[in-house]
Amino acid sequence: MAYEIITIRCLDDNYAFVVANTRTGEAALIDAPEAAPINAALAARPDITLTTLLLTHHHHDHVEGIDGLDRLADLTITGAAADAHRLPALDQMVSPGEQITICDTPFHIMAADGHTLNHIAFYAPALDAVFTGDSLMTHGCGRLFEGTAAQMCDTMQGFAALRDETRTYCGHDYARANLTFAALFAPEPQALATRLAELDQLDATQTSTTGVTIGLEKQLNPYLRAHLPQVKASLDLPQTTPTVDVFAEIRTRKDKF
Ligand SMILES: [Zn+2]
Repeated sequence: MAYEIITIRCLDDNYAFVVANTRTGEAALIDAPEAAPINAALAARPDITLTTLLLTHHHHDHVEGIDGLDRLADLTITGAAADAHRLPALDQMVSPGEQITICDTPFHIMAADGHTLNHIAFYAPALDAVFTGDSLMTHGCGRLFEGTAAQMCDTMQGFAALRDETRTYCGHDYARANLTFAALFAPEPQALATRLAELDQLDATQTSTTGVTIGLEKQLNPYLRAHLPQVKASLDLPQTTPTVDVFAEIRTRKDKF
């Protein structure tokens, strides 16, 4: 099996992703922030055919490109059953815990509440890839618009349980700002230095900042590290503070950062 993940920059700082099975040519799009760059990226790849659209959540900057997609009439649009009332019309409704086959490979539907309620993520174990929308963001997590800190904490712990090799693909390029903030909460020093240098390189070449592994996120992302003594110490919180409260404090400070 051979799969390719194509990252497409949309709007100001959004990402859409195409997963392509290079053997069959079948491809799936994850979120549709803006039609023009997605259509252009696919037009440049006549060897692949888009058949599926997977939606992580209802926010307009993840769905507003749908109507302009060249392949719209042929797409199976898949999203959370519990959010069907506020998502574009779905052809396939899914729920956390289910598994679907996309491009001939299993995708697990993961609960990812917090940024919104009924936000979902798509985990493809054969690709070692998870598409997190606005839940886990590179070196951070999404703002809590609808859910609670406890819900987002659960969501992040779900991602922490994936294999360290799993690469994370999120909905926005906030890596630089998130890492600047993460640096305040005792990340692993060597990993931080290496990643800062890498981000300089990626910026200079206008390359996507997504695709970071869970293993690296566990060294940098404070929302995956809220249980650690050094993170509690960096916040001046007692060591007895429950992880969820540490998590909530970090998220509150981010909103004021
Ligand atoms: Zn969002």
